[in-house]
Amino acid sequence: MTWRFALMIEPAASDDSRTDFSDTFTVVDPAAPALSVGELSTQRGDGIFESIGVVDGHAQEVIPHLERLAHSAGLCDLPAPHRLQWQQAVARAAAECPPGESVIKLILSRGIEHGPAPTAWVTATEAADFRAARTTGIRVVTLDRGLDSGAPDRAPWLLLGAKTLSYAVNMAAIREARRRGADDAIFVSSDGIVLEGPTSSVILRTGDRFATPAPGAGILHGTTQLSLFTRLEELGFETAYDSIPAARLQRVDAAWLVSSVRLAAPIRSIDDRPLAVDASLTADLNDYLLSPRD
Ligand code: PLP
Repeated sequence: MTWRFALMIEPAASDDSRTDFSDTFTVVDPAAPALSVGELSTQRGDGIFESIGVVDGHAQEVIPHLERLAHSAGLCDLPAPHRLQWQQAVARAAAECPPGESVIKLILSRGIEHGPAPTAWVTATEAADFRAARTTGIRVVTLDRGLDSGAPDRAPWLLLGAKTLSYAVNMAAIREARRRGADDAIFVSSDGIVLEGPTSSVILRTGDRFATPAPGAGILHGTTQLSLFTRLEELGFETAYDSIPAARLQRVDAAWLVSSVRLAAPIRSIDDRPLAVDASLTADLNDYLLSPRD
């Protein structure tokens, strides 16, 4: 049976000077109802989240995730999360994680309709098994996101750079990819610029140069991609943030979809064009991602 842990958080104001937030946490039964029916996260998807990978009880890259949570909160006009409070909540959840791979989710919602405060909680559970994706690789198709690359600036209310709870579109894209015989998707803007996967960042290799779409373009700045660029630079490779035309996908030497729990999944075909999987580099990257990282 899958184990699960859940903690409700009473969100502290960002200038709260306490150093111990344990009395703002309530451990709840993860199998029992915990949210009000007036909760706006469930009614409207009005909230933000983060998924943090945990390896043998060590939560990976907590600060970059908390920085992105704060960035998403700013874009969504949600109160700034108190960094230390959330760090302590993550530590509390990580302490429950058994050996192996787990995932901690942080959720900050607008709260209850007409209610005074946001709702916040943290869960921990066993991670899905991505071993085959990390070794055999995945087939991807490109999908039009239906928005041009000017949309994030022209229409910031679309919240394109925030990690919001409204992931129904992202899940629909993965289902569409499966209908087309693939495992996952890469979103492309309607003017032909490579963006990201529905739940991942894209890294492309051409020779010894590794590029990813610049995070300003209405996509998330992936913590895994950031971490992998550090590793690739250690290995002597060049890394870059580019504006990448979709046509370049047909010329790259290798590509990966990367994210906190899946880690690095090598792409073995894009729109039916086969791509070589560099098994030893991919294994190195995944070993790095599985090592304790702060
Ligand atoms: N882009 C999107 C849309 C995502 O949902 C995710 C992760 O879930 C990522 C990128 C990768 O982010 P990270 O590496 O921080 O998990």
